[in-house]
Amino acid sequence: MRCPFCSTEETKVIDSRLVSDGYQVRRRRECGSCHERFTTFETAELIVPKIIKNDGLREPFNEDKLRRGIQYALEKRPVSADDVEKAISHIILQLRATGEREVPSQLVGKLAMNALKELDKVAYIRFASVYLSFDNINQFTKEIENLKD
Ligand SMILES: [Zn+2]
Repeated sequence: MRCPFCSTEETKVIDSRLVSDGYQVRRRRECGSCHERFTTFETAELIVPKIIKNDGLREPFNEDKLRRGIQYALEKRPVSADDVEKAISHIILQLRATGEREVPSQLVGKLAMNALKELDKVAYIRFASVYLSFDNINQFTKEIENLKD
């Protein structure tokens, strides 16, 4: 990488070590031209992508909003809080795994639907009916038929 002092491309690593319990690599570099030394830190990029809403606006991923939607669908259903949290963690993990900086909000909805399908069929149908806003009874019936298989 370039030297931040003189912009020369020739810099070399003179020391490299793990820091932050091994979650970061700290490197000391020296410029081959001006001989200034500087430090870089390397960490895994584990950002949760931003959400692209239907109207094109971007907003930060909101874990509470996801939790509310899932809990709403699971109201009075026999699913433990622990399982709900596991499902939410799994959804976030899948969002991170996309490696994207932005993802459409539909993806979050789809992941939530998949999670609910595993947790509770009734909650899944509740969520899907709101989320997919079934506009006719056939679509709704089809989804129920799919679940029977
Ligand atoms: Zn330099």
